[in-house]
Amino acid sequence: MSEFLDLEAQDGIRMPWNVIPGTREDALSCVVPISAIYTPLKQVPDIPVLPYSPLRCRMCRSILNPFSIVDYVAKIWVCPFCFQRNHFPQHYSSISESNLPAELFPQYTTVEYISTAETGPVVPPVFMFVVDTCMIEEEIGYLKSALAQVVELLPDNSLVGFITFGTYVQVHELGFGLLPKSYVFKGTKEVTKDEMLDQMCFFAGKRKPTTGVIAGTRDGLSSESIARFLLPASECNRRIAKGPLACSS
Ligand SMILES: [Zn+2]
Repeated sequence: MSEFLDLEAQDGIRMPWNVIPGTREDALSCVVPISAIYTPLKQVPDIPVLPYSPLRCRMCRSILNPFSIVDYVAKIWVCPFCFQRNHFPQHYSSISESNLPAELFPQYTTVEYISTAETGPVVPPVFMFVVDTCMIEEEIGYLKSALAQVVELLPDNSLVGFITFGTYVQVHELGFGLLPKSYVFKGTKEVTKDEMLDQMCFFAGKRKPTTGVIAGTRDGLSSESIARFLLPASECNRRIAKGPLACSS
């Protein structure tokens, strides 16, 4: 057990299960779903700091890490999230089982990278709150005050977004200051990523990338369209009280 507590202290992650079900039957009989509770911005003493930029998966943008499968001969790493095969760049050519870059050390499951010219300007942390609103009215009151407290504690430069879900899923356009505005999706209807991007007017009149994640301005999103949904934390509390939790059901 202590090894799991150590991992929590190091990585800020706790899972209800420490063993993944090995068979379909085991998976089906799990009453508590496999999930993870993660502590963002956890202060980790002596966290390794790497003085270069991370290698990213070209498909999903995940970062090379100790769980990646590495082919040292072909100089390829396989992303553990999307299974994309990625070539190492030239400056990793001397990589071998006995000459690992720090981000592949098995004990380096949480590291920090120093921002460089290559990684571009530091983007502010983004906190997307996804809130279940299926509760009695009295609890909504408690939820509102708890969320207000949480938003107060966020770093000043954070950006905050809100999605609530009850009978419907609502993506709140916090940046629209005149009145509460949200995009509403029916919980029982499957919506593809493309349909969602179209309905929320992310690429109005422009071509959108056909593969990979769409996560920021370098993927073709305009900063105006991002600002519609992500609001600086300092401007957030008043807007949340009037919007997301005032009109949820
Ligand atoms: Zn990937």
